[in-house]
Amino acid sequence: MRRREEKGSNEVIEMQYDVLIIGGGIAGLTLAVKLGQSNVKTLIVEKDKKSGLIYKGELLQPKSLDILDRIGLLETVKENGVSLPSIQFHEFERMDNGSLKKLSENEFRYDLIQSPYNTSLMIPHERLKKLLFEEASKYDSIDHIQPAKFTGFTDEESSKKKAVIETKEGQLEIQANFYVGAEGRASPTRTAMDVEMKKTSYNHHFLTVSFPRPDSLDKSTIITTQNRFLGLFPLPNNEVRSVLLIKPGEFKEMRKEGLDSFYRAYCELIPELDGYVQQIDSWKKIQLMIPVRHNVSQYVKDNIILTGDAAHSVHPMAGEGMNLAIQDSDVLGELLCWMFKTNQTEWKHLRWYEKVRKPRAEFVSRLSHQAALLYSFPYRPWQRLRIKGVQQTEHSSVLHYKQMLNTSGLGIWKFTIFDRMKQAGLLPARRNDHKLSGIEQKVIFDKNEDYPWKGSKGEIG
Ligand SMILES: Cc1cc2nc3c(=O)[nH]c(=O)nc-3n(C[C@H](O)[C@H](O)[C@H](O)COP(=O)(O)OP(=O)(O)OC[C@H]3O[C@@H](n4cnc5c(N)ncnc54)[C@H](O)[C@@H]3O)c2cc1C
Repeated sequence: MRRREEKGSNEVIEMQYDVLIIGGGIAGLTLAVKLGQSNVKTLIVEKDKKSGLIYKGELLQPKSLDILDRIGLLETVKENGVSLPSIQFHEFERMDNGSLKKLSENEFRYDLIQSPYNTSLMIPHERLKKLLFEEASKYDSIDHIQPAKFTGFTDEESSKKKAVIETKEGQLEIQANFYVGAEGRASPTRTAMDVEMKKTSYNHHFLTVSFPRPDSLDKSTIITTQNRFLGLFPLPNNEVRSVLLIKPGEFKEMRKEGLDSFYRAYCELIPELDGYVQQIDSWKKIQLMIPVRHNVSQYVKDNIILTGDAAHSVHPMAGEGMNLAIQDSDVLGELLCWMFKTNQTEWKHLRWYEKVRKPRAEFVSRLSHQAALLYSFPYRPWQRLRIKGVQQTEHSSVLHYKQMLNTSGLGIWKFTIFDRMKQAGLLPARRNDHKLSGIEQKVIFDKNEDYPWKGSKGEIG
């Protein structure tokens, strides 16, 4: 990758590329690696001089590990991360004397899925970006300008329009065959496309921070009471990422009361954190996270394409945001490489990307939303329903498999109305209530489902 240096001048500099990627986050960088590996002439622009100022997703799901393996990065990612093959759920009841009584303990396991990638993995967000950036940097066909901010398109007709980029040295006008908006939640490319967007907000916020962890905390763990939710996800270097659910406005109250109120919220739920959580010595290290969910009506318009959070953001409960970005860019990258390689660069082929990715992203977005709802209401019957749901899912081989497959991104096997009734305890769920009789292989996406244009004549209705 070449770093473009534009010398100071008042003139607008014009440049031409096959693909312009706007945004150097996980989505943009994954796409840059894919395009670099196929020698597609690409420019990537990133507005921030320095990134990493806010916390972003760190949990990689199995499908993302598969993709990282195919681009040659899995071993390095493993060396820089922590594998987490299961997730533990602990539910407690707070007694009148303040002590906690355990109500249930369950475990969801990725190793049920028949795949070499049947685990999740935690890696610091900026570390993953650095690894992707270094990989993209190996390819001469990739240029990179940072800081450089996309501000909109020129007014010309579709095929002639250019992207306007502000840099320290002046304005650039980039003409590309394809423009990819990978700028995250507040995407100016999406605004320019003028597509419809559905938005959901939630009745809760989160506080998130990493801090040193005791050795005993080596599994993904969710601890809940009727009123509290604390998620703990081990990171490398004996750290842990924590996510505490709070009511809107509670952050302000906690800050007024002092850091002790924050330490107390953690240690009451998991006393082993005493002496560890106190190492957070400033509110500045604790980030307020306001979950939102959005989905756009279209991922593609003419030769403009959205990927990652620009197209959809999901509630963070299921740890899917960064994964959707990687999975979008994998399919988009594979399609663009195929279009250039086979000289079929007509815009109509881009619809393959939307056809594959939009239903999958919407499915995962719904799952994350449903998981969020389970933890959104502080009522005793709601807690009982949640405990039942988790227990029934763990105890039925089919429900457990569906849960893990649908989270993994490796495939989709939808829950039926009967599954939902079992989860709610209205029907019994037993360990072998359905035999997994070969169907579990059919519900894993194969290459034809991931990249269907390769098996067709490249036509789409
Ligand atoms: C506060 C927060 C917390 C999150 N927590 C979780 C979580 O717990 N679990 C989870 O799975 N996901 C989480 N996510 C979501 C996850 O981080 C994202 O899904 C993932 O980072 C999406 O990657 P992306 O590349 O699409 O977007 P981003 O990571 O947002 O990257 C977009 C990049 O584009 C750049 N950019 C923006 N505008 C312009 C412009 N005009 N010109 C040039 N460059 C531009 C930005 O500077 C940024 O570097 C969180 C996101 C946020 C914001």
